[in-house]
Amino acid sequence: DSTAPQWHSPGRFEALGPAFFTYLQPTPVPAPHWVATSASTALWMGLSTEWLASDEALQVLSGNVVADGSKPLATVYSGHQFGHWAGQLGDGRAILLGETSQGFEVQLKGAGRTPYSRMGDGRAVLRSSIREFLCSEAMAALGIPTTRALALTGSPLPVAREAMETAAVVTRVAQSFVRFGHFEHFAARDMQPELKALADLVIDQHYPECRLATSLAGNAYANFLQAVSERTARLLAQWQAVGFCHGVMNTDNMSILGLTIDYGPFQFLDAFDPGHICNHSDNQGRYAFNRQPQVAYWNLYCLGQALLPLIGNEELTIAALESYKSVFPAAYATQMLRKLGLRDDAPGTAPGEGRFAQIVNPLLQILADNKVDYTIFFTRLTEAVSHTQGSEIDFEPLRDIILDRATFDAWSLTYSEHLAQVDKEQAADLMQKSNPRYVLRNHLGETVIRAARNGDFAPVQQMLAVLQAPYDSHPDHHAWAGFPPDWASSIEISCSS
Ligand code: AMP
Ligand code: MG
Ligand code: MG
Repeated sequence: DSTAPQWHSPGRFEALGPAFFTYLQPTPVPAPHWVATSASTALWMGLSTEWLASDEALQVLSGNVVADGSKPLATVYSGHQFGHWAGQLGDGRAILLGETSQGFEVQLKGAGRTPYSRMGDGRAVLRSSIREFLCSEAMAALGIPTTRALALTGSPLPVAREAMETAAVVTRVAQSFVRFGHFEHFAARDMQPELKALADLVIDQHYPECRLATSLAGNAYANFLQAVSERTARLLAQWQAVGFCHGVMNTDNMSILGLTIDYGPFQFLDAFDPGHICNHSDNQGRYAFNRQPQVAYWNLYCLGQALLPLIGNEELTIAALESYKSVFPAAYATQMLRKLGLRDDAPGTAPGEGRFAQIVNPLLQILADNKVDYTIFFTRLTEAVSHTQGSEIDFEPLRDIILDRATFDAWSLTYSEHLAQVDKEQAADLMQKSNPRYVLRNHLGETVIRAARNGDFAPVQQMLAVLQAPYDSHPDHHAWAGFPPDWASSIEISCSS
């Protein structure tokens, strides 16, 4: 069947050699069953939904059968965790099935122990796997770079965490699963030929333009670092604009392609709280929402140190990282202005004089001071602008959710003046495409997790459908676009997964 994955062997990663990985088989699970599948990911990869519904797919994607041509392997990486060098880590519970002929790498997460499992059991529980499956697809639909999820299977196999849970396997897909930590691994061990082989492979496959660049003294590795810095900057701008908190921004959880990767205790903000910490185990708040852009730069600095032997020059390394400091704020300003239906400031606008300073910053202050629901504020604003007949915007639905109305009224006057300078229909259109009605809030995840634990998987698939069209109205699931219930704030999500 040509629409099943065609495994391309040897894959790109295999060409790197045994210093990079270990061949191994996934560990089978008892009585695997489907929890959900993403037809959208199947189509993206060129697979048929018929194959994805087959028993063969269930067996392959739960790790019970290895398909012809697939040579599963786990890769080694190292990294900095919570600001400290952690030494060797690696794919402790992710197994790469291989690369499809269309260039997609396919991983099973939770498919058993590997040589890099350390103390872990190589498994993932249903709860956290549902979160990863749904959030991968939600992010993709929001236009935010991410690893994708093809399928989620479950098994009655018991898995011990704080309590006993059951096992699940997420099939993840990406053009590459290489992390900053892969580079740090070989740099820390002073394995320069391996470091160079990895960099050359990633550049040739994903950043070929770096070989031709004349900037940064024509140094391909410096240009590579700069390109990764810029992709990461744009990713962070999108996270901050949508209110996404990753929770575990260790260097081993940073994708070399600038993808969101390794969904753990992540959270979409409910009330706008800039200092929000979503990871219950993050006592210092290192990965608080408003620290993410700075942490990404810190992580890029680690990548730069790892690439230094290839770049060969400290100054070029620092210069390559510099662009993060201009790309992030510019991309973030663009994202935030779009949410307000406005375009960028003219180039050369003095800091403090542009729209960002006049409208975005004061608004974020109001949202923080009044603990306003971030997503609902922007969807109500979108509706207010979309429904405006003459020139008067009806701000009442927004005033309803803000305590300090005087400050908000002053802001809305300034905002109205800016909006008066642009085409109202275009502004409404831009806002509708920039402000999702549905994001995977913690309590929504909890709701479908509870149903799934009781054997009802339909809500997972229904929520997937809603999150895959997050800007649309879904009248049947109106409540999922509403305020979080009181119990939402008591959900505690740790690294345990
Ligand atoms: P994370 O904090 O999820 O990014 O994981 C950090 C490291 O621990 C990675 O090398 C993971 O592969 C590994 N790891 C996490 N959970 C498990 C597990 N249950 N079994 C084996 N390895 C794990
Ligand atoms: Mg990880
Ligand atoms: Mg993880």
